[in-house]
Amino acid sequence: MRIARFSRDGDVAFGVVDAGYGNGQTDLAQEQLAVAEISGHPFGAGAVGFTGVRHQLADVRLLAPVLPSKVVAVERTYSGDPRAGAEPVLFLKPSTAVVGPNDPIVYPVKLTSRIDYEGELAVIVGRLCRQVPPERASEVIFGFTCANDVTARDLQASDGQWDRAKGFDSFCPLGPWIETDTDPADLSLTTSVNGTVRQQARTSQLRHDIPALIAFVSEIMTLVPGDVVLTGTPAGSGPLDVGDEVAVTIEDIGTLTSKVVSRD
Ligand code: MG
Repeated sequence: MRIARFSRDGDVAFGVVDAGYGNGQTDLAQEQLAVAEISGHPFGAGAVGFTGVRHQLADVRLLAPVLPSKVVAVERTYSGDPRAGAEPVLFLKPSTAVVGPNDPIVYPVKLTSRIDYEGELAVIVGRLCRQVPPERASEVIFGFTCANDVTARDLQASDGQWDRAKGFDSFCPLGPWIETDTDPADLSLTTSVNGTVRQQARTSQLRHDIPALIAFVSEIMTLVPGDVVLTGTPAGSGPLDVGDEVAVTIEDIGTLTSKVVSRD
């Protein structure tokens, strides 16, 4: 199931994305899809029902599918990464960095001269949890979406600490929706810039699989519903310029597209 968060006429709601016939078919072009509004919050404990309101996807604005309390990012996770140590590197992106599909990535050109895309699979946490053993990770995962861990590479190098480089507003595009049913063990991930493929990998190349990453993170901090775990980027990260369009596509999930605009 694909759960989207969207706005229409100023109202914000969650909905299930399908082909418009309620039959769960989702392999159509995005403009042919519809969203069926649901009542309540999909992360809540109570039953979720449909309101009966449907919209064509083209008639709504998709928003970031979650408003996380935190975005926990893991780095140096893909095999072949020359910086890879025995353990992944962990850092936080502020919740205020999150933007939705088709929202701009705002390039703070007076503060950095190098921002990079990092296409990543994002895990959406569905339950309050900590110290989750790998074999129980699936119980706390709500679903998956595409992410772009935008990074001011020059500031990352000069600061040592990564908070500034990773933390600017708009540096965490998420979307286009949450896929709740896919198996994340071996999905293709592609990042393209202006239509040219820059990153191509499979999640089976992760040195630590998704259950291991959830176990690793939840050993350190409690995860709450809506929290996001970014699973790291494969080889091929590179710079973005003002005017570029960057797209992260993950098999079974969809495509997250963002355009780069200048802040100043
Ligand atoms: Mg990253």
